[in-house]
Amino acid sequence: MFQRTRKVACPHCNGANFWHGNPRPTDVLSCRYCDADVIRYDEYVEQAARHEAERLLAEFVESDISRDLAHLKAVLATPEQRPCQ
Ligand SMILES: [Zn+2]
Repeated sequence: MFQRTRKVACPHCNGANFWHGNPRPTDVLSCRYCDADVIRYDEYVEQAARHEAERLLAEFVESDISRDLAHLKAVLATPEQRPCQ
């Protein structure tokens, strides 16, 4: 599920680092530029899951609003089809 986003920016030098293979939860990614500890794999997975959930939620909310707007425009464009009160 998280295979496509395995790039992590180093918090110290902002260098791009990548997880390789199949890391254990306790594995720590070391920056290949400045040798600092970037993030632990279980923390990385948790962050990735949270970002993915936020992204999906944002997409869902946006599509919901655009669908409502499209419906509203259709109703306003065809007043004769409005339900009678
Ligand atoms: Zn670094």
